[in-house]
Amino acid sequence: MVTVQNSSELDDRAVQLDRSHVFHSWSAQASLAPIVVAGGQGTRVWDHSGRSWLDFSSQLVNVNIGHQHPKVVAAIQEQAATLATIGPATANLTRGEAARRIAARAPEGLDKVFFTNGGADANENAIRMARLHTGRDKVVSTYRSYHGNTGAAIVSTGDWRRLPNEYARGHVHVFGPYLYRSEFWATTPEEECERALHHLRRIIECEGPDTVAAILLETVPGTAGVLVPPPGYLAGVRELADQHGIVLILDEVMAGFGRTGEWFALDAHDVVPDLIVFAKGVNSGYVPVGGVIISDAIAATFDERVFPGGLTYSGHPLAAASIVASIDAMEEEGIVHNAKRIGAEVLGPGLAELADKHPVVGEVRGLGVFWAVELVADAATRAPVPAATMGRAKSELVARGLIPFTADNRIHVVPPCVVTADEAAEALATYDEVLTLLDEEL
Ligand code: PLP
Repeated sequence: MVTVQNSSELDDRAVQLDRSHVFHSWSAQASLAPIVVAGGQGTRVWDHSGRSWLDFSSQLVNVNIGHQHPKVVAAIQEQAATLATIGPATANLTRGEAARRIAARAPEGLDKVFFTNGGADANENAIRMARLHTGRDKVVSTYRSYHGNTGAAIVSTGDWRRLPNEYARGHVHVFGPYLYRSEFWATTPEEECERALHHLRRIIECEGPDTVAAILLETVPGTAGVLVPPPGYLAGVRELADQHGIVLILDEVMAGFGRTGEWFALDAHDVVPDLIVFAKGVNSGYVPVGGVIISDAIAATFDERVFPGGLTYSGHPLAAASIVASIDAMEEEGIVHNAKRIGAEVLGPGLAELADKHPVVGEVRGLGVFWAVELVADAATRAPVPAATMGRAKSELVARGLIPFTADNRIHVVPPCVVTADEAAEALATYDEVLTLLDEEL
């Protein structure tokens, strides 16, 4: 037993315990050097010694309401004192209130919620519902996507994480729209939209439309690069799905609950899916939870027929209480609107200025508090900067008091939805300094 003396010893002890006993996600373990986070408030976190950082990652792009929101913390405490756990087969008032609030923000005709432990198992269950509803097998998703770390979710994922995990069957991948690196030689959003839809249509025709259970898309692909779809793309996918009796699943795990400046990212598009998958921002991860919002037609499939899926912690009361408090606080405090305003008035213009100023920035894109800064070694060829440059970007940002979210050759600018204009300006100044260093390295 080690007796801890002071705050820097607590930091050392946290690192020592972590390195001795904690096995981390998606990493070779030997060279990891995680920062210690002991506490947080709003957009800021700190270690035991008092070093603090602006959290422009929202951790894994999930702490939409900011750290330690007092109303959410109080709701969890109160629920823990009343009923800390209860099985999924019971009726529970808090669970019902959580489901009602979630369904109220979804488009009309999606009224029921199946709760899961997180985003991956929510996608698993959405895929299961689509397969059972249609009696078909295949799931079409995009190469540039992430849907979670379990059976069908990881094989629906397009990025490298699918490849070591390909044990599920029936998955087909397509390219979605991404004008900056168009797979379709497009030069305008209109061309990109039309050609991406043509490509999707042809793949479905070649796969056999009546073998396809679902098209599964992130409304705005997040980890893959904040790829806001061009106007008309999602409506076109909806039309295609309807034409062939295919279920449309929109994965709003990262994009939902305020991130894009809307309750759901789909609110800015002319589209109503059959299933919406959520997690992360629904309660900002204060208690692990996710779920599927189900259309009336798909819910009716399971009126008389058993739904063959379930989880011990489906609709856990601590998660439900945190959802109720979180959605209420977001509504009362105008947090979704704040995300939209900060995107339109501060981050959007500020990042555009950085793109003009720094040759290393190839493109900036996004909305709300959901932005990607794409770094290139050569503006003409758009060749991504090497991994070592991204490593440097990350460590220089952390050294200047900002926790970044990085993926491939991109810095994702993804603060909590409660971020203030001053905090956004502080972060923009920090990005500016670090981009200057990267320009010099080019
Ligand atoms: N779907 C999307 C779009 C995500 O971004 C993620 C996680 O980053 C997931 C699903 C998986 O969620 P979880 O990690 O809660 O299983």
